[in-house]
Amino acid sequence: MLKENDIIITEGVDYTSEGIGLAKHDGQVIFVNNLIIGEEAEIKITKVKRSFSLGKIIRFTKVSPHRITPLIAESIHLGGCQFSQLEYKEEVSYKLSKVNRALRVIGGLDYEVRTIHAAKSDSFYRNKSVLPLKKLNHYTLISGMYRYNSHDIVNMEKTHLDDERVAVVMKAIKKLLLKYKYTIYNEKTHVGDVRKVMVRVSQSYDEIMVVLITKNVTLADFNRFINELIVLVPTVTTVIQNINDDVTNVNLGEKEVVHYGSGFIKDRLLGLEFNISSKSFFQVNSAQTEVLYTRALALAQLTKEDVLLDAYSGIGTIALAASKEVSRVIGVEIVKEAVLDANENAKRNNITNATFVRGDSGHYISENIQKENITAVIVDPPRKGLSEQFIDVILKQKIKKFIYVSCDPATLARDLAKLTTIYNIAAFECVDMFPRTSHVENIVLLSLKTT
Ligand code: SAH
Repeated sequence: MLKENDIIITEGVDYTSEGIGLAKHDGQVIFVNNLIIGEEAEIKITKVKRSFSLGKIIRFTKVSPHRITPLIAESIHLGGCQFSQLEYKEEVSYKLSKVNRALRVIGGLDYEVRTIHAAKSDSFYRNKSVLPLKKLNHYTLISGMYRYNSHDIVNMEKTHLDDERVAVVMKAIKKLLLKYKYTIYNEKTHVGDVRKVMVRVSQSYDEIMVVLITKNVTLADFNRFINELIVLVPTVTTVIQNINDDVTNVNLGEKEVVHYGSGFIKDRLLGLEFNISSKSFFQVNSAQTEVLYTRALALAQLTKEDVLLDAYSGIGTIALAASKEVSRVIGVEIVKEAVLDANENAKRNNITNATFVRGDSGHYISENIQKENITAVIVDPPRKGLSEQFIDVILKQKIKKFIYVSCDPATLARDLAKLTTIYNIAAFECVDMFPRTSHVENIVLLSLKTT
């Protein structure tokens, strides 16, 4: 049995679902951040838990030929940091193997995925970032990402994932937070005002949304703060204060005040224009989202006879992109603001055959699948996958055209194990929406078994 402070030599054999290096020693699993598959290192065991241990690299004894210098040096302190130091083509082929393994091991399925659409750009692709802050002294305020396995902030003026405009906005915000002497929230003591800053940038327009997430409602001189901010960064088009007084890791609170601009930013995907509010989900990698939707719709082969349900529809992006191919499309989404955005987006694009309703997708489909004569379904659930209720309805109604878009191969494989009792996997493609992380997006076309 391994003990704390043991020093061993071990080899990277895999990564965890969150992208931490994984090694094995006498059958015991050790999480070793920054260990690339095939690398060997001397490590020190820092923690022993029941089903795994944690180890820290002391020195490498064999370095992968696929290891590269990270684009942003500070990224080596983050969880899963080997992904910022691995040749991108290796990352992509690892993702494909991860999906295939999930299908085999979790889904018990005999199917091999061969297609993955790699990203054209493997850095600075995120259109949304939520960054924590820490005040070091009267003159220094840092922002960045959390250090591996901790809530310490690694000071990063620019991150390797975020759109480069985020760094410009953050620099100005940090300067003003110091100038206006706003206090920074401390997670441990629940004291301080400014919790985090969320920045959303538009890929297609010179528009930036800033959301200051604060514990309290009032911020002294906030209008002056904003006036200075838009002088420093004129492309900031809207500033929102989100109030979150809960002791929680969830970033956004319920309450919001729009202090400047419309409270939205606009962006474009596949020739359509979208209004996005702060609380609505919008895919973080716009370039790859276009690939994702284009492939999903190409596989779906929708026709003018189809009534399409876009379940987990967010601000309506898939539904609106599909609208011209079908007779009608209905989107169902649980977040109120996203449903409002979706209906507004239909109008904005002069689309009259799309409606969006607020609700739980499982509940909605069980009540409406027959009433609405739904003939085709596209789902794009969050990481936890489809609800049992949703799957039960699908299995009972035997919907002919069914596309499952998923950001989590594990829950996808779990759901496919059930769905493949009546469906065959007719096509499966992965899209790398999240370069430099372990995450990967998937599109599955299911066709009803004939026997
Ligand atoms: N298809 C959209 C959104 C996908 S993200 C796009 O591509 O942008 C998943 C969405 O599901 C989020 O908007 C989330 O708010 C929503 N959601 C989560 N649980 C839900 C549920 N039980 N019923 C309906 N929508 C849900």
